[in-house]
Formats: sequence, C-alpha cells, structure tokens
Amino acid sequence: MVFDKLPAKIKRNLTKKMIIAIDGPSGAGKSTLGKMLAKKFNLLYLDTGAMYRAGALAVMRSGISLNDSASVATIVSGSRIELAGSPDALQVLLDGANISDEIRSLEIAQAASIVSTNSDVRRRMVELQRELCNTSGKGCVLEGRDIGTVVFPGADAKFFLTAKPEARATRRFEEDKAKGRVTTYEQTLDEINRRDERDVSRDDSPLSIASDAVVIDTSDLDLSEVFDKMVETIKGLGSAAA
Ligand code: C5P
Repeated sequence: MVFDKLPAKIKRNLTKKMIIAIDGPSGAGKSTLGKMLAKKFNLLYLDTGAMYRAGALAVMRSGISLNDSASVATIVSGSRIELAGSPDALQVLLDGANISDEIRSLEIAQAASIVSTNSDVRRRMVELQRELCNTSGKGCVLEGRDIGTVVFPGADAKFFLTAKPEARATRRFEEDKAKGRVTTYEQTLDEINRRDERDVSRDDSPLSIASDAVVIDTSDLDLSEVFDKMVETIKGLGSAAA
C-alpha cells in the first residue's frame, strides 16, 4: 500500500532494471562513454563487441575458415565467453583465460566483423547478453551495433553515436598509438571503413538507428559534452515517467 503512494519516478527505480543501449559505428566514442555512464549510474558495463572479438579469436585459434558458417557456429557456441571486472578494468575471458589485449588487434577486429555476420553466432551472443543483463543488479549499459534494435528494443534509453569516418579513425588511431599498437592512420581508416560497410550491409541485424534512439554526432564534440547530453537524457527519463 505504501508502495502505491510513492512518486512514479521512485517506484520505477525500485522495480525496474535500467537498460541503456549505445549503438553506432567503430570509433564514435561508445566504449569511453559507455564506461563513464556505467560508473555514473552504478550499472554493469557490457562491451558486446568484445564478445564478438572473443568468438572470432576462438575461431582463429581453431584454424577453421571464418566463412565456414556451420563450424564457426559450433566453435563459438562451444566457447565460454565472459566479461569480468569493473568498467575501467574490464577483462574478457575465453574459456577462463584473459584475452583482453589479444582481441584488440586489427586482425581480430576484421575477423569479428566477419564472424558477426553469422546468424547462429548472433543468436548465441544476444542470448548471452540478455542473460548477463538480466542477472545484473541495477541494470546495465550495453554498447554495440544491435542493442537498441535487437538485444533490448525496450531499453530505457537508446543512443546512436556517430561521427565522420575521419574523426573516428583519428580517435581510434590515437587510442592504438597510446597503447603501443603498431598501425598507421590510413590503415585504421581503411579498417574502420571495411568493418562499417560489413556492419551496415549484413542481412542479420545490420547496424541501423532505432526509431526512438537519440542520435549524437560526436565529430566535433568533446566526449565530456556528449556525456553531459547523455546523462541529461537519462535523468529526464524519471521525470518523463512521473
Ligand atoms: O565494437 P567492436 O569494434 O569491438 O566490435 C567488433 C565487431 O563486432 C564489429 O565490427 C561488428 O562487426 C561486431 N559487432 C556486432 N554487434 C555488436 C557488437 C559488435 O556485430 N553488438
């Protein structure tokens, strides 16, 4: 009875997990902003791209062709893919081993983009992502390509972050350089373009903007400005429901 008298905003917070979906192409700032939001609202952070990368690594290690759909699906579904730790120290585990650094190569990025066109692989990943989120405490922030359209179409807040390819390549190149990865700007731009093309043109769950997503072009914005915009949107959810 007391519960009925609570303001809608508080009732909502007490009864519902908060799901924040962030989609967009590579290098638009999804990971940085996703981690910042997860910390701000104390939510689980799920880097779904890392899960596809882990699946790709499993396939590459097995030596089978990335285009052998049936075998790729078998390898991925037989692999244990886990995300552990806090947003800033997220660990990606494959069959119990930490592969966080290994999956960040250009080779694995391309392999992940190929493996992610496989519908059986996608089904398995979506299942896993929903399961992880549903067993999380307060809810989660998920970032990827199909979160607001397929994984959680009913997410509380949906963002689609985008930016000009050159801005995204510069951002990615700077990140890679800071981490000591050997690459060039041209290589990074080419890699990003190839992955984007595959992501938007695949048959299953192509990268697309959910009709109710807040679209932010981050090309000329500071990530802190984007963060403020996202926080404002999320905070506005409670009052909209009140
Ligand atoms: O986000 P990240 O660049 O690490 O993702 C690696 C690849 O995994 C992407 O290029 C994309 O092809 C695929 N992916 C996907 N769906 C997601 C997340 C990533 O298809 N939800």
